[in-house]
Amino acid sequence: MKSIYDVLIIGAGIAGLHTALSLDDDVEALVLAKDYAWECNTFYAQGGVAVAVDDEDIPSHIKDTLSAGAGLCDEGAVDILCHEGPTVIKEFIEQGFGFDKDRAGNLLYTKEAAHSRNRILHAGGDATGRHIHRFLMDLLKFPILYNTQVTDLLIEDGECYGVRVFHNSKIFNIYAKKIVIASGGVGSVYEYHTNARTISSDMQGICLTHGIALRDMEMMQFHPTVFVQGDAVRKQLLSESLRGEGAKVVDEDGRRFLFDYDKRGELSPRNIVSQAIFSYQAKTGKKVFLDLTNFEEGFFMKRFPSIYFNMSDIGYDLPIDLVPISPAFHYAMGGIKSDLFGRVEGVGSLYVVGEAANTRVHGANRLASNSLLEGFVFSKRVALDIKLTLKEGKKEIKFDENEPSLIKRGDKSLKNELRSLMWNYAGIIRNEKKLKKALNRVEDMLKLPIGKLLRLRLLSSQEIIKSAIDRKESLGAHYIEKKGDKI
Ligand SMILES: Cc1cc2nc3c(=O)[nH]c(=O)nc-3n(C[C@H](O)[C@H](O)[C@H](O)COP(=O)(O)OP(=O)(O)OC[C@H]3O[C@@H](n4cnc5c(N)ncnc54)[C@H](O)[C@@H]3O)c2cc1C
Repeated sequence: MKSIYDVLIIGAGIAGLHTALSLDDDVEALVLAKDYAWECNTFYAQGGVAVAVDDEDIPSHIKDTLSAGAGLCDEGAVDILCHEGPTVIKEFIEQGFGFDKDRAGNLLYTKEAAHSRNRILHAGGDATGRHIHRFLMDLLKFPILYNTQVTDLLIEDGECYGVRVFHNSKIFNIYAKKIVIASGGVGSVYEYHTNARTISSDMQGICLTHGIALRDMEMMQFHPTVFVQGDAVRKQLLSESLRGEGAKVVDEDGRRFLFDYDKRGELSPRNIVSQAIFSYQAKTGKKVFLDLTNFEEGFFMKRFPSIYFNMSDIGYDLPIDLVPISPAFHYAMGGIKSDLFGRVEGVGSLYVVGEAANTRVHGANRLASNSLLEGFVFSKRVALDIKLTLKEGKKEIKFDENEPSLIKRGDKSLKNELRSLMWNYAGIIRNEKKLKKALNRVEDMLKLPIGKLLRLRLLSSQEIIKSAIDRKESLGAHYIEKKGDKI
């Protein structure tokens, strides 16, 4: 281990690994992963990468992104995403990555909800994330330290000097000139979610302890079609592309009730589909299913192999069987506030990129498959800024290596209580009474003698709830129930 690295990257998903790929070869960088490399949301991504098909499609990709974002997007960020996206993806293909193609060698684009045309590239059918992740790991030119959890940022006088980590039962500091947070979203604070088990809002919580601003934390996206049964922490996602390619949402009587809520039915934006399913189930008590019988079996196996095999492992014969579904937490639009080069406001040498970041590129609701693209595009900008500023002089400071207890007896049951509280009181359909109840309980929990890791989750949850209370009207993924609403 070096006494000081040029660059330290926290996270080995698309945001972290593509930052690493975009740095110069002679930079001394180190990548940290909390668990195995593949335990990240990138690995589990199914649908694909949204990217403009040609120059004429760029304005339309911008329009769709802004429209999903419901007025909360930063137009500059969206412009960057949609304009720079095609170049970054072209470079990735030139580096040897193979997106799915037809027999004639043309790239295959699929459609997902709220996209006005087919513009989603995919790989290995529905195993896009796994293929991208493996490819980026193969190209990784820097060392990676597994099973390494960042427990604090080393910050003094508005400058970041490194991180404190927990690795092999030891706590120690790692120093770097530039520190990049690429640690993903907040999945584990919710009872039902689709995220990797490593995604638990640690870095968001750490930022709060240092007074670093998070933004739009009320904007949490719930995926409408998730198989939530079973004991697994990470619930099985049934990709948006299924509905994009004709799958139907039906109740136990076979009725396509989504049209009661929005004329676009299954192709409505995912917040509308999630809210409609949640509300329909609550009102009628009926079970809701995904009906895949529009697919021919051979095609389904080839196009959606991960879903096919994962579901067949638990006894479902797809595409024939109806799959019981429910919405589940999926993606955090809110995150650590940053500018369009990933720089964290108020802290020198600290960057954030990927799902952990909030550039407002997704506004109040992320357009399907725009997050892998965000990981590609903004990581390149972070690497560029690092390249331009790495040679600037920086003091060397040593920090102590003390860390309060990370875990205390009793944390586990409080953690489960928090997950259920967040799901039931700060989930898909919110109201002030429920949110305040959740806030009171979270604040009570924060007063208990708890370990630091739980404290970080509680702080992030508190921020989600407070932001949700502050936004009085529904917007995008944030839905406040009102009397007389259809939902
Ligand atoms: C099931 C599923 C399907 C999806 N499908 C799509 C899709 O088709 N298209 C699309 O665009 N998006 C999709 N998404 C969203 C997308 O996958 C994620 O938003 C994106 O991969 C996030 O990338 P990231 O690099 O920011 O974070 P991640 O890929 O989640 O990586 C986070 C990394 O940070 C590490 N980490 C976390 N905390 C710490 C810590 N304290 N210390 C050290 N390391 C830490 C983790 O170990 C991990 O390596 C999907 C998400 C899920 C869950």
